[in-house]
Amino acid sequence: MENTVSRYYTLNQYLRETFGCKVYKLALDGGMTCPNRDGTLGTRGCIFCSAEGSGEFAQSAGVSPVWQQIEEAKSRVGKKMKEGRYIAYFQSYTNTYAPITYLEPLFSQAISHPDVVALSVATRPDCLPPDVLALLKRLGEIKPVWVELGLQTIHVRTAAYIRRGYETDCYVRAVKALRTAGVSHIITHVILGLPGEMAEDMVETVRFAAEAGTDGIKLQLLHVLRGTDLASEYETGRFQVMSLEQYCDVLYRCIEALPPEVVIHRLTGDGPKRLLIAPAWSGDKKRVLNTIMRGMEERDVRQGTGVPPAWASGGRRITEQPVRSSISPYTGTAPRRDSRRFPE
Ligand code: SF4
Repeated sequence: MENTVSRYYTLNQYLRETFGCKVYKLALDGGMTCPNRDGTLGTRGCIFCSAEGSGEFAQSAGVSPVWQQIEEAKSRVGKKMKEGRYIAYFQSYTNTYAPITYLEPLFSQAISHPDVVALSVATRPDCLPPDVLALLKRLGEIKPVWVELGLQTIHVRTAAYIRRGYETDCYVRAVKALRTAGVSHIITHVILGLPGEMAEDMVETVRFAAEAGTDGIKLQLLHVLRGTDLASEYETGRFQVMSLEQYCDVLYRCIEALPPEVVIHRLTGDGPKRLLIAPAWSGDKKRVLNTIMRGMEERDVRQGTGVPPAWASGGRRITEQPVRSSISPYTGTAPRRDSRRFPE
């Protein structure tokens, strides 16, 4: 399995190249809500989203001061972590969906913690007004800022079915605006296995995100979680979830479709066991990861081998992206994999 790591660009590799050490993400709760839940766009959320707002692993309750949350989250990973640094990750709900007077002290406190090397903010592409972009720019002058965008799919029918609540063009504009604001790492969340989508649809979504200029991607298996509207749909038999074999097939195609410089943050995603209805196989995370890794070896899967040649030798088709320095501003060294291959 030794070669598996080099078959795709892992988060650990990127973190070591960028920060020069092992870095852990601490999931924090900024105490925010979401326009899909507070009545602005809807009240029931995206069809797959659990009551915790996709933040089941976040340190609980925005009532706790940020430094306290950081310390508590640090103690949870402390056993694994003798030394190293952390990313303050605001995970639950939509973490830019609040007045700037609320966001600025929250994020500033998180970024000021001496063990925090970067801030990561999960949000929706339609929740990035100019004052938030300006704040992210200011914060990025202190420490690296990452932004995670929930795209899930580019397909109109699926987006309507899951009640995403914004058009795909909005995602493209958000990527461009975040780049202009100097956000150092843009991550796109994609769900594999959404009802009605074929493997080719999922690969198209992944390709689109790469062409739009995402730096990283989270490939997440669709989980049917207790208490969601998706669970009701599933229980009435309106769709089926993927088998592990089907998931591996589509996952490998997505990995191959991604240019080698896109960091793959996740290969499956975590569904909390206490809420998981289906697919049952996803509850055995160790077996799932072992199966994925073994299959990558057996099938000789390598990131980038499915990138269309015309695209690899030409420019991006969706959005313009400025050329960035190959020298990490945080370590002063060039990343090992300096393979941005889209000359403007
Ligand atoms: S936008 Fe995110 S937090 Fe809001 S309902 Fe959808 S998945 Fe949940």
